Amino acid sequence: MSLGIYIQVPFCQTKCTYCNFHTGVVSSARFAPYAKAVETEIREHRSRLSSAGVALPDSLAALTVDTVYFGGGTPTLLDPAHLQGMLDAVRETFPSKFREVTLEADPETVVTEKAEAWAEAGINRVSFGVQSFSDAELKAAGRVHRRADIYLAVPILRAAGICNISFDLIAGLPHQSSDSWRNSLEELIQIAPQHVSIYLLEVDEGSRLGNELLRGGTKYFASAVPSDDDMADSYDSARQVLSAAGYEHYEISNFAKPGFASEHNRKYWRREPYLGFGAGAHSFSSLQRWANAHDSAAYVQSIAAGKVLIEQLETISSSQALEEELFLGLRQLAGVDLDRLQESYQVSLKDRFTSLESAGLIECSGSVVRLVPAHLSISNEVFVALMR
Ligand code: SF4
Repeated sequence: MSLGIYIQVPFCQTKCTYCNFHTGVVSSARFAPYAKAVETEIREHRSRLSSAGVALPDSLAALTVDTVYFGGGTPTLLDPAHLQGMLDAVRETFPSKFREVTLEADPETVVTEKAEAWAEAGINRVSFGVQSFSDAELKAAGRVHRRADIYLAVPILRAAGICNISFDLIAGLPHQSSDSWRNSLEELIQIAPQHVSIYLLEVDEGSRLGNELLRGGTKYFASAVPSDDDMADSYDSARQVLSAAGYEHYEISNFAKPGFASEHNRKYWRREPYLGFGAGAHSFSSLQRWANAHDSAAYVQSIAAGKVLIEQLETISSSQALEEELFLGLRQLAGVDLDRLQESYQVSLKDRFTSLESAGLIECSGSVVRLVPAHLSISNEVFVALMR
């Protein structure tokens, strides 16, 4: 077992119309104090978490950090020296042997000088929020980048030696059609990133687009959002196109060329421990889950005051742990080994799957159960039925 580190950078250039994340458009003057606060949190995490009621197991201290993930927000807005400083704090605080260090990036933020500094700092994987190759869709969604920026950014990264690249695409953006979706997939395949994430548009009512969908209006193109059935078709066509191009579908939303599945994200689905630093970052110690305060200014103030503000702290009961094993495990196409779970949790589970198997939604092979690939687009319904 190893340890993952997640570092949250909650700043963006603009707010995408569909986004309801706790991210803000703030003055760049706030970047350096934020990065310094994260460094302090990393170096002093044990004592500060203890004061906040988090009991880190001693076994965690012996684990080697092998993955780091800078997420956001848009972490590429920061000066590379800030990213380097946070990585140095991780190296100096934990036993570390980095195998995968990922930086989330918006394509328009990639320039040669920064890419070379990222590589120098030890970043070896970049996850792009590409979302679409259609400028009409990108513009309607409030994204800053355009199709041309994607084509400029990738060669810059590869020239800097960062060749492990992931693309996110979103099925269901306003103005998306089956043709434009197919075109985005085809352009992606020409560029050949090592990893692809396909997300269905989730419109939270707190976002501007969600508000318009619920209450009406024309500013954010709510009427041009594809139907749920169209989104499901887009997801299915992505599965087919990516599979034909040599990508392994290893998790509901994730596809990878052989050997390029995300090591860090796998820790989430396998319930391996990870510590999150920065405003709104989530952590899991095997025994407890918690999240830092979401407000970045309150977070920085709490660090300056010698504390860390925790908003949610939950001790995981055995029954919760089992639900998580099922929910997270079934997200992986390899499925879940029921024998292992039955032995670990001393419960009988097979009956819970009988009706889902009869309905053709899950399939069993020996003691392993998994979602039937043809029905992955309705996986949420399976999870709801399973947790009843
Ligand atoms: S870049 Fe990501 S985090 Fe920032 S506003 Fe857009 S969707 Fe939200």
